[in-house]
Formats: sequence, structure tokens, C-alpha cells
Amino acid sequence: MKQEEIESTELNLNNLIDESEFLENPIGIKSPLENGKHYELFEIFNSVEGEFPKSGEFVTFVRFPICNYSCSWCDTMKNPENKPLWFKYEDIKKSVIMSEALTFTGGEASLFLSDMVDIINRLIKDNVYLKYVKVETNGSNLELMDKTFRHHFEKYFGEEYEEKFILCWSPKLMTKDYFKTAMNTINVFNPRNMVVKIVMDPNVKDKLQTFIDRFIYIHGQKGKKVFSMMPLSVVSRGNTTGQIQPDSLKLIKEYTKKGFAVGLRVHEALRVR
Ligand code: SF4
Repeated sequence: MKQEEIESTELNLNNLIDESEFLENPIGIKSPLENGKHYELFEIFNSVEGEFPKSGEFVTFVRFPICNYSCSWCDTMKNPENKPLWFKYEDIKKSVIMSEALTFTGGEASLFLSDMVDIINRLIKDNVYLKYVKVETNGSNLELMDKTFRHHFEKYFGEEYEEKFILCWSPKLMTKDYFKTAMNTINVFNPRNMVVKIVMDPNVKDKLQTFIDRFIYIHGQKGKKVFSMMPLSVVSRGNTTGQIQPDSLKLIKEYTKKGFAVGLRVHEALRVR
């Protein structure tokens, strides 16, 4: 995606936040895209949620096709079989009726914030039950995403909102810019409805330690309860203990004492998508 396109996406997202419209219509925006809108996606499929904090649950995955980052290990954006296609709302609705839960992933889901709001809004209007909505993100728009979802859906879901809307942030640390963004994003992290999923990548060991120490400094000071609720998950690359790098194992041993949970990828262990 070109820089101008990313910027214009962000501008469009800001336009969605319109208090008067929301108040008139408590279940969401009047989407300019309603009736016949198609969504550009890599895929929609139902499967077992593999990762913390909903691992093991049955869910519909909606995978968006563009990312604003370029991670060396990325197995999604670099897979030549992944081609963007146009899907109808009905394709998503049919899958969610079966699973009753929704995980938006990517690519970078936050670049498609207007689409996510639109899809959830339509599901609500159609009385489709949603056990939860989880969004996987690299964190580059974490605050905007949280504000936007709260603005449109907090009133509707009431006390259940924070259990239903989970933002799963996987900070990327490998370049100077990504690291800086991740460090700044720690300040807007809200353990009530967000989790951090850290990939134990030995190539960024020092940055990883700096990130985690800062995270614990900011959020650990609010009391042990935050950690006992386990807002953090450490995900190893590889699906068995034997594949965890010795360096990562050392970090895992150290940080599990401080409230991190080790989150293995259930879908990999089951060898399903
Ligand atoms: S942020 Fe995620 S989707 Fe984007 S390049 Fe990195 S690993 Fe891939």
C-alpha cells in the first residue's frame, strides 16, 4: 500500500467518528457503504482460535489483505497464494452464524477499521449473536481502533463490552521505527480489553527486554491484579517446546515469574489452519 493510500485510510477513519450520528443510531454508523458493499479480503474461514486469550474456541477468521509493516518472518504477506478477493457481507454472516465469534486479522486489520465497524454493525442489525470480536494488530493504530470501537459499540454492549471486544496487540520490534511505535503504544495499552502477544524472537533480544521491562514498569505498578488477569501472552515461534530457541526459553523463565503467560499456538499443535 502506498503511503498516500494509508494516510487517506486514516482520514476516512476519522470521518467515521461522528457523535451526532452515533447518538441518533445507537447500534452504529450509517455506513455510506451499505447495500451491496463488498469487502476486499484474503479469506474468510471458520476454525479453532489458536492464540491467547481465546485459544481453543471456534471462530470465524476474516483476514484483510494489506499491511503497513514489512516483517522478515511474515508468512501471510509473502505467501504467493494469498490474493485479495472481493467477499460479500453474506459470506461473513453465514460463517459467523455458525461460529458465533469473529477474529479480524491480516495483514493489518486497523487499516480496515471502517470495514470492521461496518461488518459488526450489520451483524448486530441482523441479530447475529457475537460471543466476542477479537482484532489482531501490530499496534500502529491501537488507540484509534480502541476509541472507534468504543464510540460505536460500547453503549450497545454495555457492561459486556470489554469482554466482547478484545484487541490483541503483537508489537513489532525489529526496526527503529517499529520499536519506537511499540514503546509509545505501551502508554495507551488498556489491560481491561487488550492483550499483548510477544513473539520471543532472539534476533531482537535486547529490544524485547527493553519493551517488556517498560511494559512492566508502566502496567505492573498498577497492582498485581493486572498481571494475575494475564493481559500478556508470550508466544514462541514454533509449535513444540523442542523448537523454542534456548535464548527465548531463558526469557520465558524470567518473565513468567512477572506475570506473563506462555501462549502456545493451538492451531499449529492441531495442524489446522
Ligand atoms: S505486521 Fe503482521 S502481517 Fe504485517 S508484515 Fe508484520 S507479521 Fe506480516
